[in-house]
Amino acid sequence: MNYQQILEDIYDEIKPYAHQGKVADYIPALAKVNPDQFGICITTIKGDTYTLGQVDTPFSIQSITKVFSLAYSFSILGDMLWQRVGKEPSGTAFNSLIQLEVENIPRNPFINAGAIVVADTLLSHLKSPEEDYLEFVRTISGNPRIDYNREVAASEKEKGYLNTAIANLLKYHGNLNNDIDDVLRFYFLQCSIEMSCRDLSKAFLPFANHKCAFHFGNVHLTASQVKRINAIMQTCGFYDEAGEFSYLVGLPGKSGVGGGINAVYPGRYSVAVWSPRLNSKGNSVMGIKALELLTTRTRESIF
Ligand code: GLU
Repeated sequence: MNYQQILEDIYDEIKPYAHQGKVADYIPALAKVNPDQFGICITTIKGDTYTLGQVDTPFSIQSITKVFSLAYSFSILGDMLWQRVGKEPSGTAFNSLIQLEVENIPRNPFINAGAIVVADTLLSHLKSPEEDYLEFVRTISGNPRIDYNREVAASEKEKGYLNTAIANLLKYHGNLNNDIDDVLRFYFLQCSIEMSCRDLSKAFLPFANHKCAFHFGNVHLTASQVKRINAIMQTCGFYDEAGEFSYLVGLPGKSGVGGGINAVYPGRYSVAVWSPRLNSKGNSVMGIKALELLTTRTRESIF
């Protein structure tokens, strides 16, 4: 498969979408990002890398971090985690409170409510949560320079009214063991991590390599657990656009409001794409288009 040529063809075809959508501005620090950027990086299990555009520019990974936090927590708690978080698609916005009020436990680990519970589990079990989490992300991506962006985290905390409401509801229902402020601080920090497309595609490679057990630093998952994380990415990875992403692209993945998306083609490759302009559901316009064309051109999808 000539992935490099395919990436170049795709880029020509998606240029008309370059100015559609807008950057997330509910986190003030993210509004400063130049919206007209694009990068895509494929890393194969065999060790080949194909790139196009701004693949070495670090960006705010935001909700993509939820895959790393789920992996970490699942490795510690195993199936006990599911007593506190579900694994059903929510069909509502990532920051919605509606279901939480009725159902008490978050629908899945990729909506904010679920990720806040996951952050709480890590705060309870890790000796040095901030350092341990960052160390895991650095290890899995092979890049020791990856870091939190504390300005973005502080900016989100300052305007984080909805997430604060979610945390209060969780606490009320007995689903947060730590102090609300501590949990939110840690959750915002996790979201503020900056990585490039090259870093991300490498970090997700172990999920593409789903038939192998996962050992990175202190995080150990069986092949079966890796498969299950992929399943949750497939059903819940794209806010209330997970069905549309399955239909258009047909790969498990996770998006973030920083404009990044990482998808995996199990058994073959991991692909990271980034472009900050988002559609109305919070997903990167050019990112989704590029991945749709990738699986159409290559005829490689899980369906
Ligand atoms: N930190 C963001 C929030 O909680 C993450 C949102 C996202 O990327 O989906 O709102």
